[in-house]
Amino acid sequence: MASNEFQPLQGMSDIQAPEVYLWRMMEERARAVFASYGYEEVRTPVLERLSVFQRSLGDTTDVVKKEMYSFTPSKHALAMRPEGTAGTIRHLAGRGEEGLGARVFYIAPMFRYERPQAGRKRQFHQVGVEATGEPNPLADAECIALQKNLLDAWGLAGARIQVSTRGEPSDRKPVAEGLRQALQPHVAALCEDCRRRIEENVLRVIDCKNEGCARVVDRIPSPLEFMGPAARDYLERVMQALSAMGIDVVVNPKLIRGLDYYVHTVWEISHAALGAQDALAGGGRYEIALGRKAVPGVGFAIGFERAIMALNACGIDGAQFAPPGGIWLVSLGEAALVENMKLARDLRARGIRCGMELDAKSMKAQMRKADRAGAEMVVIRGDEEIAKGTAVVKNMADGTQVELALENVLRDAQAG
Ligand code: AMP
Repeated sequence: MASNEFQPLQGMSDIQAPEVYLWRMMEERARAVFASYGYEEVRTPVLERLSVFQRSLGDTTDVVKKEMYSFTPSKHALAMRPEGTAGTIRHLAGRGEEGLGARVFYIAPMFRYERPQAGRKRQFHQVGVEATGEPNPLADAECIALQKNLLDAWGLAGARIQVSTRGEPSDRKPVAEGLRQALQPHVAALCEDCRRRIEENVLRVIDCKNEGCARVVDRIPSPLEFMGPAARDYLERVMQALSAMGIDVVVNPKLIRGLDYYVHTVWEISHAALGAQDALAGGGRYEIALGRKAVPGVGFAIGFERAIMALNACGIDGAQFAPPGGIWLVSLGEAALVENMKLARDLRARGIRCGMELDAKSMKAQMRKADRAGAEMVVIRGDEEIAKGTAVVKNMADGTQVELALENVLRDAQAG
């Protein structure tokens, strides 16, 4: 049988303790931060009609062209979501009037058929928000503030926020034409993909990772230079609000973000600890067309896996968030086994974590198990203790041992 029989698929991971404790901390703190901003949770399906993504993300984007897990089981082509915004907006659009002015968040797995490498998975997880409503620089600034707030709540230091603008919808044409003209003398120095992108989606040339293309991009004007005054003014107001809130960001006019649905503010958060895939999170204002509706809003997504890499680099890991070790019951003899099951039931009913061996095992074997379970306290009972209504209680931290009446064991455990 293949040696990878027990491995998950390439680019996918099983998440287990102690790492999973870090995931839980991040989820819990994210929920608390979102609640403080008045965001409600939404859980949309993993599978959507393919058209939900094609239309909103853009037909020529890498995600739609190359990275979707899609299939056609019957009439409609379906896809596993590669990101959270399109499905969330599909949902909000269906809520009619009430969908505008909504503030929602999601914590969910995403799927992209990319070449796996460090920090790039095929199943990854995002925490994201969407706030629908007409363009407003203060809403964009608040969204960035919320995201920064979340990174702080996780204890993540050293994140760098870069902001740019995609301009008004009416800026699209002059930007594309301006960039095409500026790139024309340098076509020979561009990679094959970018030569095609000049016609297809010229903005994508700006964030091509190829070194030759990056050198060309350094020499041409940024998209901002081809935009009208309204776009610059909007960006200026976002920056003013961020500065008033004491949030450090840098303007990088060559920041693009890959998807077509963005207008006005876009931003990316990177972290030096991430290496080649240094994007920790992205966000922006969008206008998503769904059927006859165009839904305006602003949102962000943070990749859990990358946030975890950055947290680890800051010395924060899952073991620090392990649940309390609880109590281990040691049973000497058959009668003690059954009595300890009753005691375990009473402790668990009080919300106390408690474990015991259900087979008759030696004292030594049971103590070893207690140690492995990380128990803080061990309660030992044999025929003698049961007859007296007592138990021997051992504190695992300092090794001290006392004999207590059973009701005192319960009382002390609860006081904890
Ligand atoms: P994007 O929508 O591509 O900007 O993604 C937003 C965030 O999700 C990124 O900044 C990453 O943190 C994370 N992310 C995107 N793609 C992947 C991937 N293939 N593997 C892991 N994380 C990813």
